[in-house]
Order: sequence, then structure tokens, then C-alpha cells
Amino acid sequence: MATNPPVNEDPVKTAAPRRPGNQAPEMCLACGTCAAGCPLTGQDGFDPRKIVRLVLLEREQELIASDLPWLCTLCGKCEYACPMGINIVNIVRTLRGRVARDKVPGMIHKGVALCRQTGNNLGLPAEDFEFIITDVAEELAAEEEFADFKIAFDKPEANLLHTLHNKLVNTQNEDLVHWWKIFHVAGEDFTIPRENWEGVNWGLFSGDDEAMQLSVGRIVTHMEQLEIQNLMYPE
Ligand code: SF4
Ligand code: SF4
Repeated sequence: MATNPPVNEDPVKTAAPRRPGNQAPEMCLACGTCAAGCPLTGQDGFDPRKIVRLVLLEREQELIASDLPWLCTLCGKCEYACPMGINIVNIVRTLRGRVARDKVPGMIHKGVALCRQTGNNLGLPAEDFEFIITDVAEELAAEEEFADFKIAFDKPEANLLHTLHNKLVNTQNEDLVHWWKIFHVAGEDFTIPRENWEGVNWGLFSGDDEAMQLSVGRIVTHMEQLEIQNLMYPE
């Protein structure tokens, strides 16, 4: 079932977080530099300057009801180019967070809900995950130069914690093998968590702060408990 975000009555123009160096949307010059730098300007009426203007006018419900916040890739080019440092990315993300969860497009919210319950966006049980990873590792070990390759799950004090993009577990196992070949040749001491291994934070993309924090917290917990200093984060 879709869990809607907590109600925040503040207008998006004040509620959207600002990073160091950001300024409030009131400082917008309407210069259009953001629109010139955005790869999506003109696509289905998308224009970051328009988004900033509508937010300034507190017409955010129009944006929330539209597809516009979901067209953005959150790449940040607009914000990088903006001479006033307007917090455009967090404006878009805050708009997304105000969309009812059953209106979040595509599979993103379903993935968030599964990740909350199971620790990964696929809803894969730990034993199935371990079976897939071990199977792919054994295939690699069948190659002569990788004969001693093995996956270490939850290894304390490894050099690197290897979280995974769910698609590498689901459909693109061969891309895992590319990483592992590099690690093996480089002598990298890495480990994969048996549970809560998801490295794709769809709470970030869907504007769900709580889910985002939960996913980040799980990774931090792994690193603290296993005493690992370095993280491979696939996004
Ligand atoms: S680049 Fe910045 S100042 Fe110029 S229109 Fe865009 S948000 Fe406003
Ligand atoms: S963050 Fe969104 S609005 Fe800004 S440049 Fe990227 S796609 Fe365009």
C-alpha cells in the first residue's frame, strides 16, 4: 500500500532545502540560464525557469499535478549554471515529495516500498540473493585466471563495502563480473552485505526523505558494524 509523505503546509519556496551556496527562489533573475543549460528544456513543456516561477507564485499544486517534476533527471546542470545559486534541484525534489505515492510514476514507489520491507528494491529474500551472487561468482571462477575468485559476505574490516544496483542482480549479472574482474586483478579486499545490499536510493529520486534516510542509514550501519572505511555506491 502506498504511504503518503507527511503533510508539509509550508510553500515549496521556503520548504525546499538549500545547500551551502544556494539562495532562495526570490533571488531568481528570470535570466533563463538554467533553461539554456538543462538538457530537457522544451521537452513536453519542461523549463526549470518556469518551475522556479510557479513555485515563487505559490502555484505548486499545478506542478504537483503535472508530469513536469518527473521529467527532471536531478542532474543539477541548471543549478550549476544559475548565477544566483537558486536551489532548483531541491525545489524539484520537494515537489516530488508532495505527490501522492500512488501517483509516483513507474516502478519507483513500488521499489521504495519493497526496499523498506526487504532491504532491496526487488524484494529479493537474502537466501535468493546469496544464491545468485554465489552462482555468478562460481561462473567467474570457472575461468582459469580467476580460479580462486570467491565472494566474501559481511566480512569484517574489508577495505571496501560493495553495495549493488538491483539491475545487476536481476538482469545484468554480466556487469557484476566486469567489476569483480577488476577487483580481483587489483587485489581489492571487498565484501558484499548479505542483507540490505541495495545501493540505489529511490527515496532520493521520489522525494521520500524517510525512505532515503533509511537506505543511507543501513549502509552506514554496515560500515560501522563491519568497520569498513570505503564504499562502492553504484549511483
Ligand atoms: S538561472 Fe537562476 S536566476 Fe536565472 S532564471 Fe534560472 S533560476 Fe532564475
Ligand atoms: S536538474 Fe533537472 S531541471 Fe536542472 S538541468 Fe538537470 S534535468 Fe534540467
